[in-house]
Amino acid sequence: MLDAVVIGGGISGLAAAYGLRRRGYRVTVLERQAHIGGNAVSERLDGFLMEHGPSTVNAGAPVATGLSRELGLDPERCDLGAGVRRRYLVSRGALCGISVHPLGFLCSDYLSLGARLRLAAEVAMPRGGGEETVAAFCARRFGAEFAARVIDPLVGGIYAARASEVSVAALFPKLVELERRHGSVLGGILRRRRHGATMPGSRLFSWRGGIGALPRALARRLGETVQTGVTVRRIEWRRHGFRLDLGAAGGIDARTVLIATQPHVAARLLDGIDGPAAAAAAGIDAPPLAVVFLGFRRQDVDHPLDGLGFLAAEDERRTLNGAQFCSTMFAGRAPEGHVAVAGYFGGAREPGLGAASADELIAFARREFRDLIGAHGQPLVARVRHWPLGLPQYRLGHQDRVAALVDASGRQPGIFLTGNYFSGPSVAACVAEAAEAAARIDRFLGGRGNVPIALPNTSGSRHPIAGVGEIEFGERQVSA
Ligand SMILES: Cc1cc2nc3c(=O)[nH]c(=O)nc-3n(C[C@H](O)[C@H](O)[C@H](O)COP(=O)(O)OP(=O)(O)OC[C@H]3O[C@@H](n4cnc5c(N)ncnc54)[C@H](O)[C@@H]3O)c2cc1C
Repeated sequence: MLDAVVIGGGISGLAAAYGLRRRGYRVTVLERQAHIGGNAVSERLDGFLMEHGPSTVNAGAPVATGLSRELGLDPERCDLGAGVRRRYLVSRGALCGISVHPLGFLCSDYLSLGARLRLAAEVAMPRGGGEETVAAFCARRFGAEFAARVIDPLVGGIYAARASEVSVAALFPKLVELERRHGSVLGGILRRRRHGATMPGSRLFSWRGGIGALPRALARRLGETVQTGVTVRRIEWRRHGFRLDLGAAGGIDARTVLIATQPHVAARLLDGIDGPAAAAAAGIDAPPLAVVFLGFRRQDVDHPLDGLGFLAAEDERRTLNGAQFCSTMFAGRAPEGHVAVAGYFGGAREPGLGAASADELIAFARREFRDLIGAHGQPLVARVRHWPLGLPQYRLGHQDRVAALVDASGRQPGIFLTGNYFSGPSVAACVAEAAEAAARIDRFLGGRGNVPIALPNTSGSRHPIAGVGEIEFGERQVSA
């Protein structure tokens, strides 16, 4: 009998399995697809590098940066390129550049003078109470215009969500904490900056080969521990642990099970063994999302592309939520003399767009990039990645759902969960949550002490690692 089976070979499952193997436990990771990594897929296309899912990691997150170091990935690490000088927001059909300085908004005319004065008055606003949406919290503290013109695009572009639907306490607990502790978000940030803290999300990094480098490095350390192409269909409770039904692949027994899948799969697996947890997971939806990657000759794009990309407020009525200037963000993402951009469609704003056909999405993206950055030539590369289940929505009541899921191990000892619907969808949040899950399982199994064992780098591992031709994209194929 294994000590633990991890269901799901995305970043969460792999990072948790790594934490358990480092403690010397006998672990198996079972991944449904033919490749590991889940959302984290980097693909080379004629000298361009496309990120199908995540493209950046927060450099201020200690667990993620520690993992990069520990896995020997630091020599491959790349920070944001020097060309990233601004953030862009769509304003009345054109891009408006805002300095990355914290006072950027006060100095730009993206917001009306009244809105900028209202923003500065945040320090004097009274505290609120009760569960609020991100939109309500930000309108109350920073003013309605800032909420609609800055927070709405941020939440739409980064979290594929609607600020008027998601819970501020669940998605941005630090904002709520700053208000609670300091009476003001801006006041709290300024105080923390004086003590050397940086703005959240202000430092981002990746690796030369893209984000796919992280699951690849984890899988190399885990070696034969990882099995791909194996779908877990059911979990059954047994006297001393659990039996996992793998369909035609048979069954596997383990003392503990860590469910590291998307929430809808967790709901199915928990059905019959923990009703409250199954209901909580089923209550977390993830609307379809699509990424359109386009590569152009440099001379075919007018804009200097001197930023991370741009975000669009919902009232701008664009088809895309936001875009990244991939070749400015990191070196080596486009061949010499070329540029790469990626547009993000769908999510909670317009789920139907996330499920539109590849041809339609490419046409939408070309129109948007022509109008907003003057991309007038024919793209050399056009690739679409559909995510039929995109990012989990942290809607009102999310914290109660998470509490019901965390309690699963109390009601059903030996069952644990991790993933991107607990403490944030970012890669950094996933690896931190996964490390916590590994620690909880370690405590349940009796604890193996704190002296981690070294895991060899098994570069000849037999399971496939995402690469063109090997990728089976689940529900829908990538299409150009
Ligand atoms: C388009 C997009 C852009 C993003 N951009 C960023 C970004 O720039 N920065 C950032 O920090 N984050 C970003 N994110 C978020 C981040 O990538 C994800 O939240 C994170 O990678 C999720 O990892 P995970 O392991 O929890 O889940 P997943 O990656 O979804 O992995 C779950 C795995 O479980 C497997 N599985 C499912 N069912 C079964 C079963 N029955 N049996 C066995 N295996 C099963 C699946 O095949 C999958 O591999 C982005 C996400 C998307 C979609």
